[in-house]
Amino acid sequence: MSCNPAIGGQAKGQMVREIDALGGEMAVNTDVTAIQFRLLNESRGPAVQAPRAQCDKKAYQLRLKHKLELQDNLQIFQATVTGLIYKHDRVVGCRTNLDVEFLGRTVIITTGTFLRALMHVGQNKNKGGRMGDFSAKTLSGSLIEAGIELCRLKTGTPPRLLGRSICFSGLQEQKGDREPTLFAFHDTRDQGDLFHVEQPGETLLGWRPGVAQTSCWMTYTTAESEQIVRSNLHLSAMYSGEISGIGPRYCPSIEDKFVRFADKPRHLLFLEPEGRNTNEYYVNGLSTSLPFDVQVQLVHSIPGLEQAIILRPAYAVEYDFAQPTQLFPSLESRKMEGLFFAGQINGTSGYEEAAAQGLVAGVNAVLKVRGESPMVIGRHEGYIGVLLDDLTSKGTIEPYRMFTSRAEHRLLLNHGSAEGRLMGHSRAMKLLPESRLNRIEQKFSAVKKWSDFLEDTSGGNGSLGDAVRRGEAPARLPAEFQNETKEVREETLYRVKYRGYLLREQRQIERFNDLERIRIPDGINYLAVSSLRKESAQKLQALRPATLAAASRISGVNPSDITILMILIETGHRTPSGPWSSPGSASVV
Ligand SMILES: Cc1cc2nc3c(=O)[nH]c(=O)nc-3n(C[C@H](O)[C@H](O)[C@H](O)COP(=O)(O)OP(=O)(O)OC[C@H]3O[C@@H](n4cnc5c(N)ncnc54)[C@H](O)[C@@H]3O)c2cc1C
Repeated sequence: MSCNPAIGGQAKGQMVREIDALGGEMAVNTDVTAIQFRLLNESRGPAVQAPRAQCDKKAYQLRLKHKLELQDNLQIFQATVTGLIYKHDRVVGCRTNLDVEFLGRTVIITTGTFLRALMHVGQNKNKGGRMGDFSAKTLSGSLIEAGIELCRLKTGTPPRLLGRSICFSGLQEQKGDREPTLFAFHDTRDQGDLFHVEQPGETLLGWRPGVAQTSCWMTYTTAESEQIVRSNLHLSAMYSGEISGIGPRYCPSIEDKFVRFADKPRHLLFLEPEGRNTNEYYVNGLSTSLPFDVQVQLVHSIPGLEQAIILRPAYAVEYDFAQPTQLFPSLESRKMEGLFFAGQINGTSGYEEAAAQGLVAGVNAVLKVRGESPMVIGRHEGYIGVLLDDLTSKGTIEPYRMFTSRAEHRLLLNHGSAEGRLMGHSRAMKLLPESRLNRIEQKFSAVKKWSDFLEDTSGGNGSLGDAVRRGEAPARLPAEFQNETKEVREETLYRVKYRGYLLREQRQIERFNDLERIRIPDGINYLAVSSLRKESAQKLQALRPATLAAASRISGVNPSDITILMILIETGHRTPSGPWSSPGSASVV
């Protein structure tokens, strides 16, 4: 884990569940190495809740490494890949720095931030994809030679502090949830898989999820912090023009925060422990590329950190990525047959995004060898589908991170339904054991049975389903239902509660196919549509597409923006101050 050892959050949490539903290891690995669980947005509805876990950085890594070592039919070898071996436009293997060559019909590149990687701490520069690591120097040249276009991006990380030098006493404590929300679907796994039961020969790290959780702490930047940052902006690698790559918009550096959000007097920071057996703390929110001496002043200007010792400075890293529009949705290169790309090399940022792509590329590389059609996950089937479609059809000019707003059918993509949504793929590709597939089938037939029952059974004023939607139902639900597993109950209640919205999304999926036929009225003032994202509203206002299909093809206009437009058009919403500045009606031609 290059940065914060945290997994999940909005949309990313759902992706971890989808990875679990496709046989990936990330969810279980998170559950058994987490040191804090928190359900974000707990007070709000289940549609916007998102699980997040802070992991033990080393335990997470070592458990996963050992899991790979125990994997049948997987051979591991550690060396630096220096170049591809290809014949015409087909990859046939790769070369390493040890002069050992590997031949194969498919190759997957997952180099993260390591290609021609350069780290910046102020004006200080070091080659490396991660502090303490190397930079892959020659592979970029080999990819370019093979016809792959590379561009530059940048990301950053905050300083790490020595815990015993932090004064926690005036800081607000943030404890973990007493009842942890886990990532893996333990209900459909074999008993032996639950909470990790070691098999002979295994010495997997891990503990029962939720035991002995650690706390995080909150603090804020001060006016002095702002003054330190502003007066040293010219020394920041990002602001002095040292870095050409674009950084993540949604994970801004502290320099960006003070400059772009100048009206905010202070910024929230979280102090997060990196593990059980270390006293190292991660300062979430304080990413910077200021020089080390300025970082020391900055850290000392923050309450609780007046005496803090920096164990590792914050830094920015620039690296090569390959524009993912050069890939098919299977993640195979359009230019070089058999060559797959996955993870941050495709312009994404985040462990979950990388894991999802790794899984899809792995499955598809095997299918390619077998001569079978690739596994392509649709946008309506999961966030993984949204991710792959966005990357391969639109590309990216900044580090791409998943958000719920990127998905047009986000209510259908709730975390509880991930196994059901993806079962077609997991069964067809044999990604899960037969026993688990059967349990998933049973689970979703129970959910259907109970959803139908609640809709069809009178509950006084309307059906029991109506009572659920009014928030009155729990006491009136039959005992038999209460005896179902938590997962069946929660998914049933979710489907019943949001029934109208879910049906609408399902209809939208069908209608999205007809976008080409839906005309947008001439006089629409996109800037007055407050629900549209600013970037989309500006582009739509400038380009004024004639149809929804044309709007959807504008780069930066998200499917969720199209949904908003579709609803506006459908409702023909027209008010004096509203989006229609002159008469014009929606028409389907
Ligand atoms: C400084 C920094 C801060 C970040 N902050 C966050 C964050 O807070 N939250 C978040 O979700 N994500 C964060 N990310 C992004 C996240 O770490 C990545 O998106 C994710 O790890 C990418 O996974 P990956 O498998 O594509 O690559 P990586 O995790 O980078 O792994 C690449 C691996 O490939 C190996 N490798 C590279 N080149 C070669 C070669 N030629 N031969 C052999 N091996 C090679 C490397 O040694 C490395 O082990 C951060 C990344 C960095 C660098």
